[in-house]
Amino acid sequence: MERRKPKHVRVGDDLLIGGGAPIVVQTMCNTHTSDVQASLGQCRRLAAAGAQMIRLTVPGLQDVPALKEIHRSLREEGCKVPLVADIHFSSDTAIECAKVVEKVRINPGNFHPDHETARRKFAEFLRVCKEHGTAVRVGLNHGSLGKYITELYGNTPFAMAKAAMEWLDMCVEEDFFNVVVSLKASNTVVMVQAYRELVKMMQESGNVFPLHVGVTEAGNGDAGRIKSCVGIASLLREGIGDTIRVSLTEDPEKEIPVAAYLAKYFSTETIAERNPLLDAAIEWGPRLLDREIDEIPESAGLGEYLRDEIMQAARRRFYRPEYIACPGCGRTMYRLEDTFEEVKRRTLHLKGMVIAVMGCIVNGPGEMADADWGYVGEGGGRVSIYHRGEPVLRHVPDSEAIDKLLELIEAA
Ligand code: SF4
Repeated sequence: MERRKPKHVRVGDDLLIGGGAPIVVQTMCNTHTSDVQASLGQCRRLAAAGAQMIRLTVPGLQDVPALKEIHRSLREEGCKVPLVADIHFSSDTAIECAKVVEKVRINPGNFHPDHETARRKFAEFLRVCKEHGTAVRVGLNHGSLGKYITELYGNTPFAMAKAAMEWLDMCVEEDFFNVVVSLKASNTVVMVQAYRELVKMMQESGNVFPLHVGVTEAGNGDAGRIKSCVGIASLLREGIGDTIRVSLTEDPEKEIPVAAYLAKYFSTETIAERNPLLDAAIEWGPRLLDREIDEIPESAGLGEYLRDEIMQAARRRFYRPEYIACPGCGRTMYRLEDTFEEVKRRTLHLKGMVIAVMGCIVNGPGEMADADWGYVGEGGGRVSIYHRGEPVLRHVPDSEAIDKLLELIEAA
């Protein structure tokens, strides 16, 4: 397999993405960015664990001074890992962050409900990035596409790629090429198809930008690792992917060994210590997902549990509920990891049902596009419960929310 060689993107002084550079491993803090000491501590641990880029959420302009302080302190300590600001909705915040950190992740479509206004704000943002040498990620997720695009193409992988192309074409018009693009979904089949569509479209346009690849809201434990490996490896094995994140609903330090393993597996580096679970997911998952095989052969020597998990991650057979859980970030409104474990424990019998546990009301509802039921933190100890994309109960105290969710599922 030969890696595609898109244009390279420079992040800070030393890090290159694409253009034949090795796959870059990245992760994201789950601290509140405004808590400078907690965020700094986590950045130090992530850098020590091997993160090559670290993302922090910046909910609004009020959080930019904290980001500045974190960035300044890390540089003073000699830590050079580039920081990425994660922005939703506020173009003003994106513009201010572009003056502070090495890279900014945005979904330009949510800069403004009016599409033409969003385009104008995106152009303004790109000019600031150009002036400051800041890299950009255009990050679109399944479920957060604008109405204008879903009306034309449905909520499909093709629509995701089309939406990304519009923003990439704008980058070209603005003569801005320091841009990486991602099209994540929690459904591995949707995610793989979306990236493949996008690669085709970029090749036809003559401008191939580097790709950030990941399965979003993959959950935790073995299932989260297997799902991430199946989705990411399906693309890396055909040379698609220049930087990766394995999103787990766990401490972000635990994401790095999995992502580093994937990066090594698809490089010329020798892997000193093999981990059988990841190898099995990487080897069999993509072949199942692409329907090259229908079953994992007995000769593979995998136990029933691992075979079932890989089949489910590749969406070929469902033997338990399908869980969607965000990794959590500075917007998370409650104890996400514990809640997710409890929801799993109490719903394990609901084979085939899609259940989402999301950290915040800002992005959670949009990003659990495939879920039958959703548990979404509102903040202030309250939770909203969603059924097929619609809120059915709001402001439930979190001490009662799992019981209420179970009652609603049983009554449905
Ligand atoms: S859904 Fe989760 S990861 Fe996404 S912004 Fe909200 S808390 Fe953060």
